[in-house]
Amino acid sequence: MFFKQLKKLKAFDINQEISERLDGALHYLSDEGAKRFTPRLVSEKIDISLEETRTLLLRASQLGVLEPFFEIECPEGDSDFFVKSLEEINWGKEVQCRVCDSIYIPSSEHVWLTFSLKGEFSDPKVMCRP
Ligand SMILES: [Zn+2]
Repeated sequence: MFFKQLKKLKAFDINQEISERLDGALHYLSDEGAKRFTPRLVSEKIDISLEETRTLLLRASQLGVLEPFFEIECPEGDSDFFVKSLEEINWGKEVQCRVCDSIYIPSSEHVWLTFSLKGEFSDPKVMCRP
């Protein structure tokens, strides 16, 4: 296992094979320098349902491997900004998209759960170690 903490997924009744597939997918994403990724991307890589993947990624976050974020999308489909908690969003208040400048009110239908690799794993220097 590349991410040793993922061995602890066993405690959440997640089988070894799934844990290893997740480990491989996250290792690949970190090598690729992926800053943030969606459960859908991981779901496609490890070939389990989106629902299961979401749970799996939240467990991996509890183990300190990942950090969950909420991505707020503007009506044009830009990924405008990220927050760690939904409470940080001023619901009902207009904001200006940082990408396309359009003015919009964030809607819960356009908030996506995304993940990033946490701490040292997101440091490219660490990834270059043999
Ligand atoms: Zn936009």
